[in-house]
Amino acid sequence: MTKVATAPYYAMLCTPTLLNTDGGPVRDAQARILDPYGDPIPNLYSAGEFGSIWGAMYQGTGNIGECCVFGRIAARNAMAAADSAA
Ligand SMILES: Cc1cc2nc3c(=O)[nH]c(=O)nc-3n(C[C@H](O)[C@H](O)[C@H](O)COP(=O)(O)OP(=O)(O)OC[C@H]3O[C@@H](n4cnc5c(N)ncnc54)[C@H](O)[C@@H]3O)c2cc1C
Repeated sequence: MTKVATAPYYAMLCTPTLLNTDGGPVRDAQARILDPYGDPIPNLYSAGEFGSIWGAMYQGTGNIGECCVFGRIAARNAMAAADSAA
């Protein structure tokens, strides 16, 4: 250890934070959230970090691409389901 004895001194606040929370529920290729038995839960879709495909291993910069891809898939499937129910 070296004594810090010479001014000027500077300070910076360092706080712990989270960058990503990938994971949680599992989604399939159709962006449907699956139940614990692997069956789709009706009318429940996801995109982005909620149910992320990167849950097991985060790939740097992969999140935004996943948001766009699964956002589009989820929206198309949710709209198709709404149309067929109407
Ligand atoms: C500093 C930083 C740098 C990053 N850099 C990159 C990068 O270079 N490339 C990359 O691919 N990814 C990057 N990411 C990750 C990427 O930004 C995220 O993975 C992505 O934005 C997640 O999108 P999301 O829609 O899943 O969640 P979010 O963008 O977090 O959206 C969730 C939304 O839900 C809202 N919300 C939360 N709770 C409620 C509630 N109870 N009711 C209503 N609304 C609610 C929030 O306000 C928010 O608007 C970075 C993240 C950070 C923090």
